Amino acid sequence: MLPIRELQNKLLRQRQSLRGVRAHLQEDLLWLETHDESELMEESELMERGQDEHFIRLLARLDDCQKPETEEIDRALAKITNGDYGLCETCGKPIPLSRLEALPAAASCLPCALAGIRVQAQALGAPFNLVGSL
Ligand SMILES: [Zn+2]
Repeated sequence: MLPIRELQNKLLRQRQSLRGVRAHLQEDLLWLETHDESELMEESELMERGQDEHFIRLLARLDDCQKPETEEIDRALAKITNGDYGLCETCGKPIPLSRLEALPAAASCLPCALAGIRVQAQALGAPFNLVGSL
């Protein structure tokens, strides 16, 4: 029997920390926007604009890398609700607890995950011996 509650808490904490980083960045950006005209009048406008763009780019990049992770976590949480959490999405076998503890959002067992990586690597044209060592 899987310690579902524990894994669920882990997933929720992971999602929260992902959101936390983003919220913090957004606050900084908001601060820059609201303080644009008034308090920072003396600083050069060019510099401000550069900072704004920097933050917007940073936020967009953060979204790009966080999106798949957040989606995986959400999917795992949905599976807990549906009662099919902990089963490999590829072969349907139970994912070992050790893997779930290390990676609560894992959607497949290790052999299936590795097979997926191999297929991807081969599609990208990685040399076979490198692919084999995965
Ligand atoms: Zn599998």
